[in-house]
Amino acid sequence: MNILVTGAAGFIGSHLTEKLLNDGNRVIGFDNLQTGSKDNQKNFINNENFSFVEHDITEPLPVEEKIDQIYHLACPAAPIHYQKDPIKTLTTAFIGTKNVLDLARRFGARILYTSTSEIYGTPLEHPQHENYWGNVNPIGLRSCYDEGKRAAEALCFAYNRQHLTDIRVVRIFNTYGPRLAQNDGRVMPNFINQALKGEPITLYGTGDQTRSFCYIDDNVRGLIAMMNQDNFLGPVNIGNPAEITMRALAENIIRLTNSKSQITYHPLPQDDPHRRKPDITLAKEKLNWEPNVSLEEGLIKTINYFKYASS
Ligand code: UDP
Repeated sequence: MNILVTGAAGFIGSHLTEKLLNDGNRVIGFDNLQTGSKDNQKNFINNENFSFVEHDITEPLPVEEKIDQIYHLACPAAPIHYQKDPIKTLTTAFIGTKNVLDLARRFGARILYTSTSEIYGTPLEHPQHENYWGNVNPIGLRSCYDEGKRAAEALCFAYNRQHLTDIRVVRIFNTYGPRLAQNDGRVMPNFINQALKGEPITLYGTGDQTRSFCYIDDNVRGLIAMMNQDNFLGPVNIGNPAEITMRALAENIIRLTNSKSQITYHPLPQDDPHRRKPDITLAKEKLNWEPNVSLEEGLIKTINYFKYASS
């Protein structure tokens, strides 16, 4: 198949592209390299079935050859990145998604939109099921991302209703693994780098807030399963329901790296969700998908990558 991936130089986009190429597809990758990096494409940059276009999706995408499927991932996803230029984040989420939907419409291609657990905001229901409408601060620091992604979900469904565009919508929960950007300020790269260097671990707030971390290989398998089924449009949660406090995560990383780092406490960022855990009943039922990499196993692989990447 001819598959287009937006965000193909990003963390998830590069792993997805690699898997699609290994499965024998032709992939055209788009990325403006705002947060992605060509380093992430080292394993497949010379693959004859891969081509790369450096392009910002807020402008219509220049594509001539027929596309069968589109995985639309392009958007900064780390809080410090998406908050740096909030207007750009909203524009990428909405105008960018509109341009990608127009492309899907032009070719009659199926488009999978990667939304986010952030659309649930600071959730009042736990775990988060797809039927939950969320609790988002519409004007807070995170709103450029949360509301941008919510509007883009709405746009996908509007295209489906008005133009019969063949959409799939996935809500991705925290995902981690090799190729996470070292400097994006998120908890995994921060804690792992700090532990490896013996520096203080920067725990925000009390450390009682939770997240649920999905290993990248499980995530990619979930995205591909959702794209290639004909039963439902979504949205569907793709994440690992194993919930952990940020303090316990810090302790685990200190243990696995044999680090002498101490935990230090810092202010909690505004609107930082207190709890997050996906209900994955729907993914199990409709996609026969569930994660199978444990946090321990995934952390060991990720720590090994960071050791090598920072040496
Ligand atoms: N966090 C932390 N220390 C850090 C970075 C993040 O304690 O150095 C916390 C953050 O406050 C949040 C959680 O880790 O509760 C996950 O943050 P991240 O930025 O990775 O992603 P989010 O899920 O909030 O989008």
